[in-house]
Amino acid sequence: MAGILFIISAPSGSGKSTLVARLRETVTNLEFSISYTTRDKRGSERDGIEYNFISREEFEQMICEDAFLEHAEVFGNYYGTAFHFLTDAEQDGKDLLLDIDVQGAAQLRAKIPDAVSIFILPPDKQTLEIRLRRRSQAEHVVDEPIILRRLEKARDEIGSYVEYDYILVNDKLDDAVDELEAVVWSERLDRHSPDSLGLTSEEAERYRKLANRCRLGKNSRVAPVLESFGIANTGDGSHGDGQQVS
Ligand code: ADP
Ligand code: 5GP
Repeated sequence: MAGILFIISAPSGSGKSTLVARLRETVTNLEFSISYTTRDKRGSERDGIEYNFISREEFEQMICEDAFLEHAEVFGNYYGTAFHFLTDAEQDGKDLLLDIDVQGAAQLRAKIPDAVSIFILPPDKQTLEIRLRRRSQAEHVVDEPIILRRLEKARDEIGSYVEYDYILVNDKLDDAVDELEAVVWSERLDRHSPDSLGLTSEEAERYRKLANRCRLGKNSRVAPVLESFGIANTGDGSHGDGQQVS
């Protein structure tokens, strides 16, 4: 695509939707795809805003019509990105951000190799569990098997972090938002001058530095997170990590 395709993945409960919502308020010229899903609405979610909620039959019809850029089955439900989000962003000259799982991200990397991918980690396993429980309580749907399933899946998904270009740890929300913004601007700065993006050279330098610290293999905050999930790591993507120890 002419603009930049940003892919963002994270284990459920890491705070990806929260981060993306903040990014939507602060970064211009960035389109967000609204995925199609067959899962039930959660809490205050609205059809056409957080997701397009459709039936399994409708989803399978869309698969037959080749309407999806990628799709996957996650937690027993279908999720997919419609093609038109990519073509619309292209036509509007905007960058596009997709919030998708690790399977969808792998499909897209194969189709669009210059996509920029970002993996969000929770600070540790215990915090992820607390966030999952707090969200369930806020939504009045405390379902213990679902929480446990999501925690177990988190460990598998986190093992895929080595496939991503940038790794962010969502501990303090404002810091993680800063880092996510920096990644977007830094990638834009690789393709455009600071002037044409409306940035001063100081802002450009700050974004570049912050984004560089989040590149795979550079983020020293990753190792303790992996450890808390029992995932072997000897240095954030640089040598032999991502293997599970049990
Ligand atoms: P995801 O989209 O990754 O499943 P959410 O954005 O729904 O996760 O966040 C899960 C829960 O964690 C929500 O209750 C959210 O308010 C909370 N949360 C997100 N980021 C943070 C953070 N940095 N610190 C504390 N709580 C957070
Ligand atoms: P949730 O049900 O918590 O909103 O999302 C569950 C998982 O599905 C998350 O990992 C989320 O990123 C992923 N997901 C959401 N939309 C899509 C999509 O369009 N495609 C794929 N492959 N995954 C998606």
